[in-house]
Amino acid sequence: MSTCIFCEIVRGAIPSATILTTPNTMAFLDISPVHPGHALIIPKAHHATLWDLPSDLGNELLEAMQTVAGAIRAAMNADGLNVMMNNYRAAGQLVDHAHFHLIPRYEGDGLQLWPQAAYPSPEAMQSAAASIRAALAR
Ligand code: 5GP
Ligand code: ZN
Repeated sequence: MSTCIFCEIVRGAIPSATILTTPNTMAFLDISPVHPGHALIIPKAHHATLWDLPSDLGNELLEAMQTVAGAIRAAMNADGLNVMMNNYRAAGQLVDHAHFHLIPRYEGDGLQLWPQAAYPSPEAMQSAAASIRAALAR
């Protein structure tokens, strides 16, 4: 397996601006921030995507996320904060070690997340929902 940069950060082989560690998670600053204070929170163990995360990590991860996000808002005087996770290349995932971006935001900072559009018809929307419900049932 090729070296994972976030595993290297967890084991201290690559330096990081660490904010918080808990038994199974770690938060540190993104080296290339959207705004200063942009942080990443990761499981210490290597899991590639959302679907690889063990669900029993959920409480610890959510609590750490809330704690770090609150501290970022306070320290960086942010008006808001985005939590974002990219999964697979098509969604912009560059590091294959699951991570959540915590991005401080400011009124009028001008960042656009992504363009949104309408469904071509109400039926198309219901059809998409039906497809997803069918996937849930499989
Ligand atoms: P992704 O596109 O996979 O969701 O985001 C990966 C993030 O990791 C990027 O925002 C990138 O700036 C950050 N990153 C990549 N390499 C390093 C590194 O060595 N140290 C830190 N602190 N962040 C990194
Ligand atoms: Zn890793």
